[in-house]
Amino acid sequence: MKFEAHLKETVVLDPKNKTTRAIPSEIRKDPLTGRTARICHFMKLKWEKPDFEKMTAETEKICPFCPDKVLSITPYFTEDLIPEGRLISGDMVLFPNIAPYDSLGAVATFGSRHYIPMTEITPELIVRGFRLAFDFFKRVEKLKHPESVYHIINWNYMPASGSSLIHPHLQVFSTSSAPNLMRQELEAAKEYYKANGTNFWDDLVKSEESEKKRFLGRTGRTAWLCSYAPIGVAGDVLAIVDGVNSTLGLTEKDLSDMALGLTKAMAAYDRMGIYSFNMNFFTGAKGDDFTRFHLLFSPRTFFNQALGTPDVGALRNLFNETLCMAFPEDIRDMLVSDFVTAS
Ligand SMILES: [Zn+2]
Repeated sequence: MKFEAHLKETVVLDPKNKTTRAIPSEIRKDPLTGRTARICHFMKLKWEKPDFEKMTAETEKICPFCPDKVLSITPYFTEDLIPEGRLISGDMVLFPNIAPYDSLGAVATFGSRHYIPMTEITPELIVRGFRLAFDFFKRVEKLKHPESVYHIINWNYMPASGSSLIHPHLQVFSTSSAPNLMRQELEAAKEYYKANGTNFWDDLVKSEESEKKRFLGRTGRTAWLCSYAPIGVAGDVLAIVDGVNSTLGLTEKDLSDMALGLTKAMAAYDRMGIYSFNMNFFTGAKGDDFTRFHLLFSPRTFFNQALGTPDVGALRNLFNETLCMAFPEDIRDMLVSDFVTAS
């Protein structure tokens, strides 16, 4: 496995005594796609948590996902897709997304509780949410729907992640149109397989597990590591499931293992004061043996918390060039203790 980095240095002069100071930075290449990520803008990974009570209280009254409203205002699926209109599991509800970004888009709530602090999100809760999404995927698959190719769960938790609501929920969709980065990864993994005769993701896990620098641990057959070229400003946690290439290949045990690892990542980032994240499934289509199912957990925060400045600026938004404010290997050291006791 080739991990390429271009080391750079900025030299500045102290305004008073004119002594020089060197500031390092690094441009890393993602070993699969070649996408570059900058390790720079170094700072202590520590943020202040807001007053959550104040932040969430007002929003409860008008929340469309709270139990007094969710069943009266959210739409139904058409009868050909879901004859009963919505999928319901206990207090969790899955219904069509009225702001869909594809033809088969759904939203699944995490139950009746309006605000669930990140550290109170249990593996059981995540598994229940995933299971409800899988019920939807299986319906779509059974119908042999033309969009039943990539089955994706996205999770925006809390506003800093892009969520417009406090109430925890999942974005659930089945699509024949792979989103950009997922498509680029699939194309690159296919090329890698052709060139090397091996699966990139298997090779990555093997290399990271033996090198240890970014490896966090395992839950069952799911391997957890810090990405070499992260997307998030506080790094990313990547989970790769051995032997599985598409979402519907995941077992009930895999869902529990992934949920457990996610709560470990949440616990570790909570200590830094982070309380928001994105999580996406990256899946191949059925039979894409050149890839492996993986999910990416990326904490979200602010460049300036007092001003509410998002952690995405022009560099990332328009160039899609990411920056991470600490070395992923150091971030791994901050997270690993949670994972050691995970499996
Ligand atoms: Zn609510």
